[in-house]
Amino acid sequence: MGKGNADDRLNSEIERIRTQFLAGLPEQVTQLEAAVAGLDASHGAARLDALRRASATAHALAGSAGSFGYPALGAAAAALESSLNAAADDRGSNPAGGAHAELLQRFVLCAQHAVDGLPSVVVSESRPSRPYERAGTVVIIEDDPALSMRLTNYLHHFGYEIRHFADATRFCAAAPTLGRPTALLIDNALPEGALAGIQAALSRPDAMAGTPIIFMSVNDSQEARIAALHAGGRAYLHKPVEPAEVLDTLEAIAETRQSRPIRVLVVDDEASMVDYHRAVLEAAGFDTVGLTDPADFLECMREQQPDLVLLDLHMPGYSGADLAAMIHQIAPFAGIPVLFVSAEHDTDTQDAAMLSGGDDFLTKPISAERLVAAVRYRATRHRQLRNLMKNDSLTGLLNHASIKSRLASETNRIVRHGGSLAVGMIDIDHFKQVNDTFGHANGDRILRELAMLLRRRLRSSDTAGRYGGEEFVVLLPNTSLDAAVGLLDAIRDDFSQVSHFVGARELRVSFSGGVATLDNWPSSEAVLMAADAALYAAKKAGRNQIHKARPHPAAANGGQ
Ligand code: GH3
Ligand code: MG
Ligand code: MG
Repeated sequence: MGKGNADDRLNSEIERIRTQFLAGLPEQVTQLEAAVAGLDASHGAARLDALRRASATAHALAGSAGSFGYPALGAAAAALESSLNAAADDRGSNPAGGAHAELLQRFVLCAQHAVDGLPSVVVSESRPSRPYERAGTVVIIEDDPALSMRLTNYLHHFGYEIRHFADATRFCAAAPTLGRPTALLIDNALPEGALAGIQAALSRPDAMAGTPIIFMSVNDSQEARIAALHAGGRAYLHKPVEPAEVLDTLEAIAETRQSRPIRVLVVDDEASMVDYHRAVLEAAGFDTVGLTDPADFLECMREQQPDLVLLDLHMPGYSGADLAAMIHQIAPFAGIPVLFVSAEHDTDTQDAAMLSGGDDFLTKPISAERLVAAVRYRATRHRQLRNLMKNDSLTGLLNHASIKSRLASETNRIVRHGGSLAVGMIDIDHFKQVNDTFGHANGDRILRELAMLLRRRLRSSDTAGRYGGEEFVVLLPNTSLDAAVGLLDAIRDDFSQVSHFVGARELRVSFSGGVATLDNWPSSEAVLMAADAALYAAKKAGRNQIHKARPHPAAANGGQ
């Protein structure tokens, strides 16, 4: 009995120390990050000193973490320590800051898992595999250690490299060595003051002039928002901030940057007018094509696929109104905006032209500002509407009809010109349970997260679509069956390790998949059914895995 009591006391004492260790962990992480960040900015003796300090912190953690039941964290700290020591032995001259950053990131992931109470065995394998390009580097300036760790862990799983600074001073010191990050994520209020984050943004080096800035703040006042705007803020997130919200914002920024410029077809029989309009529009960032012979109009539309047409009203042999009416009868061009440009002042003629399918009527001479504004407004609206029609509104991926038609056109292309195509079908595991436990809104968020992961990990020649509720289809041209399975399996592995936060609760979700290739199956319908059958087999075999389609029945001598 007495022994039992002593054991209980010892256990509760160990538990108390362990809790204390966990409570202090975020602060330790911050210190270590600061020390590693300091390496970038220091040289010679100062650098050596910074290395030694960072190494000492890592050393202490390497020893204690293991004792408290966090072997993976201990190992990560030890790896970081030995890398720091190696750099110090090099007399501090080795500029391999990248290696430390990588090890540090791993250490932060492990620390996050320890704080979240996740088993360390998951942690030791939680390095995302990245077969294709990385998402870029995000610089986080945030003094709340718990939020920093959450963001680091989460964004890391979506392919982002993270550099974290706990205050403005350290960021400013290291900034010149950071190059051009993908984005800056800045807390308005830092230890230096309530607006220190905004000041840090204002004093960023020239190399970061074009880097999008996302501010985070508990301050939701108009004043704070305007100050952030003036400091170059592209987004303003009101705290508490969810990691998923940050990811959404980063993706939205990346999308506007990557989309191809708007293409305008300028049609006028007068070459000098074509040149003038093209010059004005090109200067405003549009992509332009000119046409002086209206006889080639339809051919030019088909070849150039413009987003908008600027059309002269009176041309020899053709009227602009007829050309507009004609293209609006052709399905792919039906909704394309047409702006008439003419010296015509007669309002009846203008009205008639507008009835034929014009979106606006601009009278010559027309100022450069007015031309650019009219074109930008119409073309942007048109793009948005077209995307709404082709893309699923929740995930932004191609919708059911569009992914099927893409599969059909890829199949046609391959039949005619050769090549190969792998088709993958993905379905989230036990998604009904996720909805039932965490609510439909959180289910939606997870669907969006999977969509983002797919967009990130696939090559630009690949296509992903939302086939149904929690089912996705991916098309991978020129990819072998084994390579496609390997790629989807790497994405599966990553996705299954992402922490989805629901308030303080944490949730893991997985998906299953099936893959088939077109060279084994005779049509787009058949290959899709084969991928679906393989998906079903993966579900039956226990979920969270990717299966290959079985060989074609004909190849297997009429089996099944
Ligand atoms: P399994 O592992 O066998 O695939 O199990 P499951 O629960 O994922 O499969 P099931 O087909 O039984 O359920 C799919 C669930 O997906 C049911 C439906 O409520 C949910 N779902 C479908 N579309 C959406 C959506 O747009 N948003 C949310 N939140 N849930 C959706
Ligand atoms: Mg499912
Ligand atoms: Mg389903």
